[in-house]
Amino acid sequence: MQNEFSLYAQVLVDIHARALDKPFTYGIKQEHAGKIAVGSAVKVNFNNRLIMGFVIDISDKPPVFYGKQFEIKPIEEVAAPDSLWDKEMLDLAGWMQKYYGCSFLDALKVLIPAPVRIKKDGSMPEDPKVKMAVFVAEPEESWDKFEKRSPSQAAGLKFLQEQKTPVKLADAVKQTGLSHTGFSSLAKKNLIEIYEGSPSFQYFHRFPAQVSGEFELTDDQQKVLDDMLGKIHSGKPGVAMLYGVTGSGKTEIYLRIIKQILEEGREAIALIPEISLTPQAIERFRSRFGEEIAILHSRLTGTERRLMWWKIRRKEVRVVLGARSAVFAPLENIGVIVVDEEHDESYKQERDPRYNARQVAVKRAMQHNSLVILGSATPSLESFHYAKQKKYDMYRLPARVGESNLPSIELINLKEDFSNKEKRFGLIGDTLKQEIQDTLNKDEQVILFINRRGYSAFIMCRECGNVLRCPYCDITLTYHKSDGLMKCHYCQYERPAPSICPICQGVKLIMPSLGIQEVEDELAEFFPGVPFIRMDKDTTGEKDAHTKIIREFADGKAKILLGTQMIAKGHDFPGVTLVGVILADVSLYLPDFRSLERTYHVLTQVAGRAGRRNTPGKVIIQTYNPKTPVLQAVARQNYEDFFKWEIDNREALNYPPYARIVNILLTGSNQEAIREYSVNFSDLLRKKQFRSVFIAVLGPAPCPLSRIKNRYRWHITIKTHNVPKTVAVVKAVLARYPNPTDTGFFMDIDPVSLM
Ligand code: ADP
Ligand code: ZN
Repeated sequence: MQNEFSLYAQVLVDIHARALDKPFTYGIKQEHAGKIAVGSAVKVNFNNRLIMGFVIDISDKPPVFYGKQFEIKPIEEVAAPDSLWDKEMLDLAGWMQKYYGCSFLDALKVLIPAPVRIKKDGSMPEDPKVKMAVFVAEPEESWDKFEKRSPSQAAGLKFLQEQKTPVKLADAVKQTGLSHTGFSSLAKKNLIEIYEGSPSFQYFHRFPAQVSGEFELTDDQQKVLDDMLGKIHSGKPGVAMLYGVTGSGKTEIYLRIIKQILEEGREAIALIPEISLTPQAIERFRSRFGEEIAILHSRLTGTERRLMWWKIRRKEVRVVLGARSAVFAPLENIGVIVVDEEHDESYKQERDPRYNARQVAVKRAMQHNSLVILGSATPSLESFHYAKQKKYDMYRLPARVGESNLPSIELINLKEDFSNKEKRFGLIGDTLKQEIQDTLNKDEQVILFINRRGYSAFIMCRECGNVLRCPYCDITLTYHKSDGLMKCHYCQYERPAPSICPICQGVKLIMPSLGIQEVEDELAEFFPGVPFIRMDKDTTGEKDAHTKIIREFADGKAKILLGTQMIAKGHDFPGVTLVGVILADVSLYLPDFRSLERTYHVLTQVAGRAGRRNTPGKVIIQTYNPKTPVLQAVARQNYEDFFKWEIDNREALNYPPYARIVNILLTGSNQEAIREYSVNFSDLLRKKQFRSVFIAVLGPAPCPLSRIKNRYRWHITIKTHNVPKTVAVVKAVLARYPNPTDTGFFMDIDPVSLM
């Protein structure tokens, strides 16, 4: 049987099973010689089934068998003759497997999108053609007259104008309610154009980019640019933290660096959070790089994704702009990777493989010896810490370019803000009420923000604002109504719910409930007849509901927008001059070690919704804890103050960046089975031989969100200095003590949320 084949391939079969997460040897037949390479997708016979597989190595030596001999089967078919994964990508997949504890298969699959992998012959499919519509001109008569004469056509035209790029006609019909015939008559009047085209290639084929001029850089910008280029040319580019407030000209730096990189014959990736993949951002990049750019986003169809991938692979474009997964773009000679808003949680994928695009960017940049720029006005604590420690280089842009001012932020102490004593436990205090009234009087708009994300019950003292915490984990204790206990969701600490505040002996202990409904009721009572609109999970269930609400508010149809964190990011509303935060304490006291950091980010973000044009904005933050350093730092808009405070907390309790966290999540419908398995599993982890690997093993405990979609959730939280070793230990224990078949076992490295 030996030497039956002249070449042997290591093939990873496309079956998701922990035991199969290793390559199997197959022979390469003569007829396939030259058609199969490392990185090819192939079909193999696996247990008498024809299965897709991926070649991850090739050798001319047959495998060595110890003991039992196996028959080596040939690869049956070549699914994709081009090799999809190159050496660098296979290395990256190997790194992800070790670092994130994911399977090699999951890593390979996230590297190459499914539509690219599954195409059998690797040929380019037809560019899908659909009816597209695009704005051409404003109505000849005035907008007002047009609107009076034909309101629905005016709405359709306005919609297309706002889009700034062509959209699918079907989408335009759906979103505006104007019929196909209505759009056709707009086209007849030459106000819009309707044509057959491809939705994703709108940016490339139909409208060549208008390449626009550049500004003179400010002195600050010039210095940052020069220093970064110096680093690149030194041959040791490293990681650059670009720290600068919104509007300080960070994007301009990205554009200049990328331009320089292209001139030097290399390529670039720019990541921006999905939510901010707005036409404006895209246009800005396109205006500099024209046809050189590919844009990846979640709305691409499978075919579009495949076309785009091959366009990049064939070097038809050299700049890739996109959200999280664009970090895997198949460029081969990367000179710079930009991660804008590097703190953004959308860079973390919350399903397997649970990678963080920011970390992958740093890893890939190392492989290419290229620069990574991590840009933010409110950096992640980790990145800023590394910059302070000089592991990263720090670049600062301290001031906004031009005139515009940051909004003013005021903290309101809710304890003292209800003149009407009967209303003492209301949600909208006197100050916010007055500010809303003043804003409405000026015919400006208001955003009210309710931060309920992952809300869980806690008990707070109305007198002193105190909240009960775990003495070991410094995490807010969660109140459990059923047994009247306060519990820590990291360790097993619990205590009875107090009836008197342990700090001030106050007796007004409350459980802030924060229903949107209650805020709505108060609004209706205080501002009768004022139209307001609500945006949260309940009102945005339908597809496009989100866009509709945004549009209605932008058009001024509603004066007040009341919403959850959904409203915090993205859209600009020029009419908004007041932002009110109903109760900052809720996010402050989430049972998560990142709750303060997240509070800082989200409050800064919502604050940024106020007064974005010429009118300065105002932000009112209601809280029972106005002295809390985080809120003080938010009010002063001083990230470094916040950082100094929080970094000490992290150090004291061995939270990141002083230690790494590996969170093991167990889910299942049988609560008792999960509990028992979690307890046993954590006992195994605590065995003496593993002690040096971990700093601490916390739990098991129910997750703060203890039940989602009828599945119970438990977790074990490990603090460690050595992630790869920890991952290896967890895997080894798991191999010896596998989870019951009906339970899910997930490992999350450097989790962004422990909820
Ligand atoms: P950031 O990315 O930090 O939010 P931007 O790069 O978007 O900042 O810059 C904010 C605004 O200032 C943009 O409208 C940009 O076009 C403009 N801008 C940036 N740099 C300059 C400059 N040197 N001169 C004039 N305008 C600039
Ligand atoms: Zn605890």
